Amino acid sequence: MRAGRRALFTVDFEAFSTEQMPLWSVAMEEWARAASERGIPFAFFVSLEHVAALRVVDAAAYRELTSGLRALSRAGCELHVHNHCLFDPVTGVRSVDRVPFSNPVPGYPHRASMWYDVVRRNGHKWFDWAKELRSEYERLIIDVGVPPPRELAFRAGGWDTGTTAADWAEFVEGLDGTGFSVDSSQLGRLSGTRPGEFTRSAYGLTQKLVELAPCVWMNCGAQPPLRRFPAPPGAALRQWRVAALRQRPGLLVVVVHFDHLFSPSQEPRPSKRDGNGTAERVVRFVAYCDKLLRVLSLRPCRIQEVVADVE
Ligand SMILES: [Zn+2]
Repeated sequence: MRAGRRALFTVDFEAFSTEQMPLWSVAMEEWARAASERGIPFAFFVSLEHVAALRVVDAAAYRELTSGLRALSRAGCELHVHNHCLFDPVTGVRSVDRVPFSNPVPGYPHRASMWYDVVRRNGHKWFDWAKELRSEYERLIIDVGVPPPRELAFRAGGWDTGTTAADWAEFVEGLDGTGFSVDSSQLGRLSGTRPGEFTRSAYGLTQKLVELAPCVWMNCGAQPPLRRFPAPPGAALRQWRVAALRQRPGLLVVVVHFDHLFSPSQEPRPSKRDGNGTAERVVRFVAYCDKLLRVLSLRPCRIQEVVADVE
């Protein structure tokens, strides 16, 4: 990786429903405005099974979704692929709607999510499913009406990429073979290492596929300052020690969950504008990201530019 101190803010965008869409719409528009004002290009990992369900059950809500994603994209944010389970693109029905499961799953040593449901439980070949996800993504991008990113990234729901080294190899091969350029799911469980760290979060998995491993998590719905501080504390402190050395190059991959904005336990501040304080929460969170960048002398970056720099 070439010299430079950068931060990549990634947003897991999932668990939205028809009823919530008006509020999500406010949040997406506000996030786009704030991201553009502060010059922070967030990378949105969009859960495709939630997209499919919305498209099938409520055309108006789906239009609100695509319009919000368009605003984000025009504000400089990127749209990438996220998925937690098998689903039928035509009916929008998920495998977990028909036969739910909860964690822990007996005989499955990690948190069961994407790989468990698609490959283990439903017996799909990962390569075929990755191809299906790509075409679902292309359909979404056409409806959003923006150009697709040059380098497309994937993040596995529940960070679940299987439980063995062979699963991981198949996962990597499937992404590579279906034209993804980036994975951002590696918590190091299968290789016995830790999650991404500032100085070694971006590395090649194959000739064409790059890993951008998550380093720290932030809660965009929480009250500042402490509950929003990057977590887990051990990982954040490790990053801080390295990040505090201003001459050190690296990439801090931050993970945020958009749905935390709407969690009922978070910062209940009614507002005149949206009745629930969502817009204000977005503005404050993006301002906090901006502050963090300045304190740590990090430059916000897009996935596209990181990929070009990974050797
Ligand atoms: Zn997720």
